[in-house]
Amino acid sequence: MNVRDSEATEATLKAAGHTLAANENEADLIIVNSCSVRGKAEDKAIGKLGLLCATKRDRPNRIIGLMGCMAQRLGSDIFKKIPRLDFSVGTRRCGAIPFMVARVMAGETNITEISSPDEIPDVPDAHSEHGFSAFVTILLGCNRRCAYCIVPDVRGPEFSRPAREVLAEVTALAHQGVKEVTLLGQSVMNYGLMQQVWTPNDPQSPHGFKEPFSRLLEAVSSIPGILRVRFTSGHPSGCTDELVKAVSLLPNVCHHLHLPVQSGSDAILSAMRRGYTRAAYLDAIRRLRAVMPDFALTTDVIVGFPGETVQDFEETRSLMNAADFDNAFIFKYSPRPGTPAAAMKDDVPETEKMRRNQLLLADQDTRGEAANQRLMGSVQEVLVEGASLRNAARWSGRSPGNKIVVFDPVPDLTPGTLAKIRINRVAPQTLYGEVVQTNG
Ligand code: SAH
Ligand code: SF4
Repeated sequence: MNVRDSEATEATLKAAGHTLAANENEADLIIVNSCSVRGKAEDKAIGKLGLLCATKRDRPNRIIGLMGCMAQRLGSDIFKKIPRLDFSVGTRRCGAIPFMVARVMAGETNITEISSPDEIPDVPDAHSEHGFSAFVTILLGCNRRCAYCIVPDVRGPEFSRPAREVLAEVTALAHQGVKEVTLLGQSVMNYGLMQQVWTPNDPQSPHGFKEPFSRLLEAVSSIPGILRVRFTSGHPSGCTDELVKAVSLLPNVCHHLHLPVQSGSDAILSAMRRGYTRAAYLDAIRRLRAVMPDFALTTDVIVGFPGETVQDFEETRSLMNAADFDNAFIFKYSPRPGTPAAAMKDDVPETEKMRRNQLLLADQDTRGEAANQRLMGSVQEVLVEGASLRNAARWSGRSPGNKIVVFDPVPDLTPGTLAKIRINRVAPQTLYGEVVQTNG
């Protein structure tokens, strides 16, 4: 979501007449986009801002700004930590950035724009130029309030953008040559549950879908030029029968979901206030895979949540095995100020958090490699990106499960089209293969 906000800010600044500097050193304006999810991410942003503001001694006209979750969390307190910071903009006010920059250029400093939870977000729909893939934010904020999480405080309550706006944005992207869109939200299947997003004048769903998110998936996937649709992040409660049907019926919706599980222990899931049990989580993925056996799943896990025993941790290990994840992001629990979990005792020692983290990573490496081995000899549909970063003589793209696939180009292959690639070699993070069919 931060990547998307940065990109939108780049586009609005360009529209206001700014140009992108070749590198950080040459830039007259630098904006740090911050994350508050873990303490370490905030420490990094503070460290970076300190270094950047120190360069103003020799370059007094340089403008340094802050955006994102930490800007929202700290409000004007940020200027106590970083006195030379020129401006700070909260999560739902990205659209104000060009005006803030203009005010600083006119001589103001230490200015801040923070949103209140009940206002309509001012988040631009502009996109800067890019390749074939784009992020589209459909749902801002979060209403869940998991015990450890600061996101609802810093990104505010759920707000679903009207479907028409989303469809107009994707149509514009398709005209710019974008082939793949990823619809973004913290609990993305909650789209349209808090606001009315479809109006009575909007066309009905050809498949008869009633749930706002399934309707949106269907409408986005039918926009001419859009070859692929992804969405993230999921929650098991959103894996309804209709959603499973939509993903399996709509041909260009990828069979992949990032479905953070956080823990495999019912006691910890309940303390985390995740709103599902281990069994409900496993049931959601069973229903997806029953209809789509090739379905790829990725996840997030937190180790060392307050009260997590070795037994709880072993339940997470066994759940990860049962779920057979393609990839997993493992985080050590970090207490966040003002969250319910911050009032609990952070009782798992750092060394033990580290041990649990390493064990899950090692398990996942083995599992990920085995999952790739199973793809040997399979034919994967790949969105061709062009020359691979490592070796320009070879090309790369991504499979529906979001794996990088590397292959030798053939004469009639064009970047931005779908090609069928037979996998003949696998590495832990990459698949290799040969082109068996092009669409271009
Ligand atoms: N909305 C998404 C998650 C957004 S935050 C969801 O619920 O699926 C991204 C990830 O950061 C989370 O999935 C969680 O694994 C991790 N995370 C959030 N708060 C954390 C904390 N206090 N300590 C450690 N990891 C955390
Ligand atoms: Fe945080 Fe939970 Fe909302 Fe995800 S669903 S953003 S983890 S509160």
